[in-house]
Amino acid sequence: MNDTSGNGSGDGNGNGNGNGNGSKKVFIRTFGCHMNEYDSSKIADVLRAADGYEPTTDVEQADLILFNTCSVREKAQEKVFSDLGRVRHLKKKGVLIGVGGCVASQEGAAILERAPYVDLVFGPQTLHRLPQMIAARAAEQRPQVDIRFPEIEKFDHLPPARTDGASAFVSIMEGCSKYCSYCVVPYTRGEEVHRPLDDVLTEVAGLADQGVKEVTLLGQNVNAYRGLMASAERGAGGTPDIADFALLIEYVAAIPGIERIRYTTSHPNEFTLRLIDVYARVPQLVSHLHLPVQHGSDRILMAMKRGYTAIEYKSTIRKLRAVRPDISLSSDFIVGFPGETQDDFDKTMKLIDDIGYDSSFSFVFSARPGTPAAALADETPQALKLQRLQQLQARIEDNVRRISASRQGTVQRILVEGPSRNSGKAGKAGSGAQELMGRTACNRIVNFDGGPHAARLIGQMLDVTITEALPHSLRGTPVLHVSMVADGGNALNAGPARSPATTA
Ligand code: SF4
Repeated sequence: MNDTSGNGSGDGNGNGNGNGNGSKKVFIRTFGCHMNEYDSSKIADVLRAADGYEPTTDVEQADLILFNTCSVREKAQEKVFSDLGRVRHLKKKGVLIGVGGCVASQEGAAILERAPYVDLVFGPQTLHRLPQMIAARAAEQRPQVDIRFPEIEKFDHLPPARTDGASAFVSIMEGCSKYCSYCVVPYTRGEEVHRPLDDVLTEVAGLADQGVKEVTLLGQNVNAYRGLMASAERGAGGTPDIADFALLIEYVAAIPGIERIRYTTSHPNEFTLRLIDVYARVPQLVSHLHLPVQHGSDRILMAMKRGYTAIEYKSTIRKLRAVRPDISLSSDFIVGFPGETQDDFDKTMKLIDDIGYDSSFSFVFSARPGTPAAALADETPQALKLQRLQQLQARIEDNVRRISASRQGTVQRILVEGPSRNSGKAGKAGSGAQELMGRTACNRIVNFDGGPHAARLIGQMLDVTITEALPHSLRGTPVLHVSMVADGGNALNAGPARSPATTA
């Protein structure tokens, strides 16, 4: 921890006196989904643009500590309060503490009753107001709470997107209007709000200009997207036209420099034939889809208010596979929903076998206060629920291993993201090489020896031959391209590896 005695007494007004080196620092801890990760990056942008805050990963260095929270499961919610307790002592040196995200939205001022040392409580839709809240905290010397869903959406108040990598998230919508019986999102993030088409395209084009090659379109229900089109694109008679998700993808794919398009999360009911047709025509759309089914029993799907049956879900996947046979699929599963019988659970296992999922997120049902499902009778013992969860996860792990093994010997195109997790580890002994990692189109991590010029490969698309399938990652060797041969092989210190055609 820095000594703050010299230049910072800690007046609790957010003027930046905790880290002792002149620049203000913000520590942001993010819980939950990609939407929260995106929001955290926007919080950092807003604070940098307005108040000059720089992000830090060292909480002891921070002038401002923010927890961007998730309330989808009780455990994540409780973790926030234990983390708050852990940083409480830093208040002594004038650090500001804020709570944002879905717990903030749900609990509001009640957070201050449980943790009265918190200075700021803001929701997903008011994060752009943080600089004003910090100023008001200083002026009024009392905590600030703003968890509204303002009519003017936050996107209008955010600084232009910045990135320093080849991959970026772009939020295209906020909130959800589906009201699944177990979910808090419609209450914490509000009903669906869609960004106008041109705003999304302008953001993507700006990112492409900065070198971004891969965008992930974000929202709670991205394929429900209905974005207002600019007047030039309006239909006959000047009536506003609305772009659906399929059209949005086609426009994004037309932006020079964008080589990969991902999206998350999508809803089975919004998976239109138009969207399936885009898979047939837009090669930039990756062959990986996260389409949460949640359960395999129609009885439970109805109780969840999901609005589809297992057969309808399977029919969507069948149509999709007809145009993209190599697509890899993942899902979310809830085990132990109130009233789930062994027969219901068996139906989920059957669906997993039928679809052949490649990785998934699965959880035991967690009753969220205020949702209809929280009031349902739930007689299944927790131990049985956990047993079912383990069974389900083991089945999916089998699939993951089988699919990974099937990649061995193939050539996969990856987007090189940077040093691999074990980047401390050198490549070939004495070569000065660095371990790098990238992702395949189907989202598998591939680690490889980047050679002595590894830095040049970061942010590039690269073909690698898969040499080893580990439980949660692959290992590969870069394929030497003609351009690399012309370079005398200097771009890589890899083996010759002239390889067969790319298979994925
Ligand atoms: S679709 Fe259902 S589970 Fe997904 S965010 Fe909306 S309400 Fe929640």
